[in-house]
Amino acid sequence: SDTAIEETAGWLRAAGRVTVLTGAGISTESGIPDFRGPDGVWTRDPAAVGLVSLPDYLADEDVRRRAWLSRRDNPAWRATPNAAHLALVELERAGRLWATITQNIDGLHQRAGADPGRVIELHGTLYQAECLQCERRVPMTEVLDRVASGDPDPACTACGGVQKAATIAFGQQLDRSVLSTATAAAAAADVFVAIGTSLTVHPAAGLVDLAAAAGARIVIVNAEPTPYDEIAARRFAAPIGVVVPALVREVLRANG
Ligand code: NAD
Repeated sequence: SDTAIEETAGWLRAAGRVTVLTGAGISTESGIPDFRGPDGVWTRDPAAVGLVSLPDYLADEDVRRRAWLSRRDNPAWRATPNAAHLALVELERAGRLWATITQNIDGLHQRAGADPGRVIELHGTLYQAECLQCERRVPMTEVLDRVASGDPDPACTACGGVQKAATIAFGQQLDRSVLSTATAAAAAADVFVAIGTSLTVHPAAGLVDLAAAAGARIVIVNAEPTPYDEIAARRFAAPIGVVVPALVREVLRANG
């Protein structure tokens, strides 16, 4: 309701630091399906790549071949940021968004204009590939160009190692320094806003516990219930592309 938006905007205005955690749900309105929503990738094709484990990926050239094709066909390449991504950038430019922690690999926060230094990509990025042997990173487009030219599983040009998208596979550890940056941003928050995430993937979901333990007010914007609804000071279930811009508008209206 309008009252809920107004009151929440008041919290955001009063906060010294606002940290946002986004999930796949913020990008569905850009045409990128989430995992667990009604139209989710898991719901439709549980074997979708990116869900494979690292040992399977390393052991099986066929898994890797399918993985590159699936990276090539990822809807993120053609997607554009939506009203929610853009509203968060406005909030940031007004000096009212401390950090955006995202579980998404689609790069839409940055493409919307977010300061890359304030976006923490917890699960990596679609736009780079990494050698699993020497850890050298190259643009994903380079690897996909080689796939298009007939190499189904391009090896690292530096060491010959197996390459993989620079995203976190099932069972793979998160990057230590990325996780500690995210942890710090969660703990520093006065208000912590979780947007479009089912809050079922750890350690990402644990950031809510961390923020709450450090005294942050928790706001959740998500169509479906989450395990954290109980501790949230407010929950919005309406579409993200409506709620987030309305919230930001209200914060900035009373700002000026
Ligand atoms: P999730 O699929 O588990 O949950 C998404 C949530 O968003 C759902 O609860 C759904 O109800 C809600 N939602 C979807 N569209 C919405 C809308 N328009 N308005 C309101 N709510 C909406 O996503 P998750 O928690 O991010 O976990 C999924 C994992 O999959 C993450 O690890 C992420 O890395 C990965 N993933 C990323 C992308 C991407 O980069 N865009 C896409 C799919 C999956």
